[in-house]
Amino acid sequence: MGYKDIDPSVRHICALSGGKDSTALAIYLKDKIPMIEYVFCDTGAELRETYEYLDRLEAYLGKPIVRLNSNKSFEQFLNKYSNYLPSPRARWCTAEMKIKPYEDYIGDSQVVSYVGIRADENRQGYVTTKTNITAKFPFKEDGIDRNGVYKLLEESGLGLPKYYEWRSRSGCYFCFFQRTVEWVGLLENHPDLFAKAEEFERMGYRGDQVKFTWVQGRTLDWVRQNKEEIKRKHAEKMKKLEGNQKPKNIHEAFANAVDSDSTERACTICDL
Ligand code: SF4
Repeated sequence: MGYKDIDPSVRHICALSGGKDSTALAIYLKDKIPMIEYVFCDTGAELRETYEYLDRLEAYLGKPIVRLNSNKSFEQFLNKYSNYLPSPRARWCTAEMKIKPYEDYIGDSQVVSYVGIRADENRQGYVTTKTNITAKFPFKEDGIDRNGVYKLLEESGLGLPKYYEWRSRSGCYFCFFQRTVEWVGLLENHPDLFAKAEEFERMGYRGDQVKFTWVQGRTLDWVRQNKEEIKRKHAEKMKKLEGNQKPKNIHEAFANAVDSDSTERACTICDL
């Protein structure tokens, strides 16, 4: 990508998710586009580890990361949607808690929005209908893959976010894109947040009838009851995959095993 002809008359924005790819992109663009703005759409349901990681990144970048919030909490949105939990088929959470605050922040300005999709990925950035926003994909254009991202993070001294030890991606603690082993990770690392997610799930019950669950076809209570078995199966899968190709780090080992379950990914505004 050419960085010498960056247009200073438009705004340049890098939206962060608290995950490794958008963090590496922020590091990569720091000196290439000095006027760049960094923003983070805070759903209010982020992990403590995400805030800590963003604070460290902010210190490294030497400029503030603008934190954007929607004017309602997740509880209020859940109420608006009649306790219908968000799901891959009804992603109202992303629209309300991520995209809307981001697009409100941009307003009518002409903006180049930089997205951290890597050269080795085959997925789209977030889709906007706003004509004043142009998306750019520096990692794709410059051939930076997963190893390139690890390298940028290592060299900056930031490393990986702490939650990658038990979770493969960034986003809300109750994200429905999590696999069951990641819910177990939440239960063991943040039992209070797991209990809160259970509470949201129960809000959708109709008497004894379980209407909506975070994990398809299973309640969080089932995850709690079966956590040892879920962990055992995951460990087996990790061992098997590690036998094929040695992972670079704990995140890669964990994510490979989790991703072997499904190709479904969170939207790129949440998971980067
Ligand atoms: S991280 Fe998951 S739950 Fe949170 S807004 Fe994104 S898709 Fe929705």
